[in-house]
Amino acid sequence: MKKILLFLLLFISAVTFSDTLKNVSYNNGKVTGIFRENKQIIPNTSVTKLGNDDILMLSFPDSDMASSVPALINKNDQYISKVYTVQNNGMVVVYVYLKPSVTYQVVVRNGEFQVTLTGEQAASRNNSSQTSRYATQEQSDNNAQTAQTQRQSGSSIRGNKKYTIVVDPGHGGHDSGARGNGYNEKDIALQVATRLANNLRRDYNVIMTRDSDFFVPLDTRAKIGNDANADFFISIHLNSSSSSSANGTEVYYFNKKDQNNYAAQVAKLENKVDSSYGDTPFSDFILNDIFYKKNQKTSQAVAGAVLDGLINLTGLRRRGVLGANFAVLRGSNSPSILVELGFMNNYSDLSKFLSPDDQERAAAVIGDAIRKYFK
Ligand SMILES: [Zn+2]
Repeated sequence: MKKILLFLLLFISAVTFSDTLKNVSYNNGKVTGIFRENKQIIPNTSVTKLGNDDILMLSFPDSDMASSVPALINKNDQYISKVYTVQNNGMVVVYVYLKPSVTYQVVVRNGEFQVTLTGEQAASRNNSSQTSRYATQEQSDNNAQTAQTQRQSGSSIRGNKKYTIVVDPGHGGHDSGARGNGYNEKDIALQVATRLANNLRRDYNVIMTRDSDFFVPLDTRAKIGNDANADFFISIHLNSSSSSSANGTEVYYFNKKDQNNYAAQVAKLENKVDSSYGDTPFSDFILNDIFYKKNQKTSQAVAGAVLDGLINLTGLRRRGVLGANFAVLRGSNSPSILVELGFMNNYSDLSKFLSPDDQERAAAVIGDAIRKYFK
């Protein structure tokens, strides 16, 4: 009994109470992070593709960071190009930009984490660009708990097809999005988006901004597309409303000015997780302006086709194609749209996107609509 209690106490102290990341440093293939207190915070680890880089993300729940934590840039290094750390909604995320074919191992000790990077052997660097990595989290000393996961970055490979399309499942990780009828938006969005990505892979290079349940900052999502020179960006969401009778499907394209109050409200709701990214750097605005005009027509056209396809399929109410200032679309250099499939809090909407068959059909009509414009 005592042992169980002790274990519970240790567990609670590791998970419940927050800690502050004091410093992150890099030296010769080792990224080391030091926390202020002697606690053990196990991060969620995942890898996502950003241009030529693979980014290892370590998300530490219930944490904040000291303002002195530096951004580390080391372009000539063998293993990394940079490491930067952000604080968002009560968690700290360390982004390690890995050079191609670098393998990582994460070890967590009390008050410290260490990422050890190693170059992969030439033998496994064949013409397939698939890179397998492993992440290990282990506790120090005599604690035997070890978690090991194998990850393939197969979902984010750029192939040699003509067009590259980014599929962005809304929300993820600590950001569950809208909730309704016992479901989280982030889960339904991921399920439909994964099916859409698989559908599109038949004809396109497809990059997913996330392929499992982890958080990606809104501006990083657009950047993933830009760095891959994407031709089109589609973000999948579900809506919510304080009114239980709100229903229907709508598709958005980026507009600097929200088209109407309703569109402004939806954009505000979808943007709110990333208040820290509210300000776009000035230089980005100039660049985006050029793409803004060029892309808006295409975005509107694809948005209309996607909406037609979905309405024909589901019979849900047609709420229209609207322009609004979505953070996730704002930074995109390619035509980009955001789909609100239906309302989470309206079961007759939600029920059209719950079963694998329904999700597959929704993905297929969205895929067909995209094919009309990218062939
Ligand atoms: Zn959403």
